[in-house]
This record gives sequence, structure tokens and C-alpha cells, in this order.
Amino acid sequence: MERTFAIIKPDACKRNLAGKILAKIEEKGFRVIAMKKIAMTRKQAEGFYAVHRGKPFFDSLADFMSSGPCIVMVLEKENAIAAWRTLMGATNPANADPGTIRKEFAQSVEANSVHGSDAPETAEYEIKYFFSALELTA
Ligand code: UDP
Ligand code: MG
Repeated sequence: MERTFAIIKPDACKRNLAGKILAKIEEKGFRVIAMKKIAMTRKQAEGFYAVHRGKPFFDSLADFMSSGPCIVMVLEKENAIAAWRTLMGATNPANADPGTIRKEFAQSVEANSVHGSDAPETAEYEIKYFFSALELTA
């Protein structure tokens, strides 16, 4: 079993899409280990996306991620990291496959509704950024 970190981003929370996105996650057999709704400050969003600091989209991305509440989650399944990336779809919704969350819900390459870790090391960092050990016992 593998764990990954997921976010339902502010654009999706604002449009009341969290339930529909969670239904897809559960249909695919992920177990939700932990979940909470949070509103990130600009600094917290910058810290989360520190790997993208210096890129042309960084400032706008940090503004977007701190523009409203998010739902952060830890998901468990066999090959959870790859499986969640597949269900999310491509970063740019214009390139996302039919049936993916980004194809169905994303508004733009920035407001693309969901986040997912891209490797075991990033999953570990991202889970620890938002959840304590005590919150990961379910
Ligand atoms: N992003 C953006 N413009 C770009 C590339 C990325 O606004 O040209 C945003 C988008 O919200 C994306 C996030 O930055 O989800 C992180 O980018 P990454 O390349 O890690 O994409 P992801 O892993 O989310 O598919
Ligand atoms: Mg990424």
C-alpha cells in the first residue's frame, strides 16, 4: 500500500465540487486516511509550492492557492501516487484525458481543481506539511 497527498483546490471548493471529486476518489478504491478543510495564507502556499519558486507562474499560483479554502487529504491505495495522478489528468486541462477530474472540472492550467504528489519523496514532504502523525492513524 502507498500513500499520496491530494488537494481539492480553491476553484473547486468555491464551485461546491468537493463532493463530486470525493465520489470519484472513492469509486476508484482510494481509502481516505485523513482530510481537512483549510485556508492557506500566502506564505503557507509559497512554502507548499517552494519547488516552483522562481518560475513565471509562481506568484500567481501562490495568490490562487491562498484565495480561498482548500481540502487537503491523504489517500491510500496500491500505487496511489500514480493512480491519483492518472485520475487527476494532465496539468493543462486542454491536454487532460476524458474521464479525468481536470478534464471535467478544471477552469484553466492554474485553476485546475486538484493537486497530487508526483513521487514518494514529495508525497512524504507534502503529507508532513499538513498532517501530524496523530492525524494519520485512521
Ligand atoms: N501551473 C500554472 N501554470 C503552468 C504550470 C503550472 O499555473 O504553466 C500551476 C497549476 O495549478 C499546477 C501547479 O502550478 O497544478 C503546479 O505545477 P506542476 O507542474 O507541479 O503541475 P501538477 O503537478 O499540479 O500537474
Ligand atoms: Mg506538481
